[in-house]
Amino acid sequence: MTDPHCIFCKIVSKEIEASIIYEDDTCLAFMDITPVTKGHALVVPKQHYANLSECDDEVLRGVISVVRKISPAVKNAMDAEGILLQTLEGSAAGQEVFHLHFHIIPRTTGDGLILFPKKAMQERDALNDLAESIKAELK
Ligand code: AMP
Ligand code: ZN
Repeated sequence: MTDPHCIFCKIVSKEIEASIIYEDDTCLAFMDITPVTKGHALVVPKQHYANLSECDDEVLRGVISVVRKISPAVKNAMDAEGILLQTLEGSAAGQEVFHLHFHIIPRTTGDGLILFPKKAMQERDALNDLAESIKAELK
């Protein structure tokens, strides 16, 4: 399953260049071309799935296990203090490449990366209502 217009499928097939960290039958890990911090890497399934929701469970297990293998290597090689793992789903969430990928972003105190604006604590009743509406979607 590949998409001829997908840039990550082209990286998987070696049609376009990438700085590859790791490869197995299911996954490829390579350096992000516009890193958020130094050492920012990506892990993708070799098969084309637009996002996490669409990914086959067995393939996802392989991808996540590669994410867990690569993350400490990125952290150690960059002498970082932590790792931010991220996957985006949908353009509203900022997804630009519609081939599932996990960002592995090394973090260091004071690196300036701002993830969330300042947040306000919500009332328990409001949180419970939200939890109920989400639980209803699980049925
Ligand atoms: P997202 O917003 O989660 O879809 O992120 C897509 C990521 O893919 C961005 O961080 C881009 O820098 C990265 N990217 C796009 N094209 C390439 C490429 N040819 N090689 C490596 N990374 C890429
Ligand atoms: Zn693809």
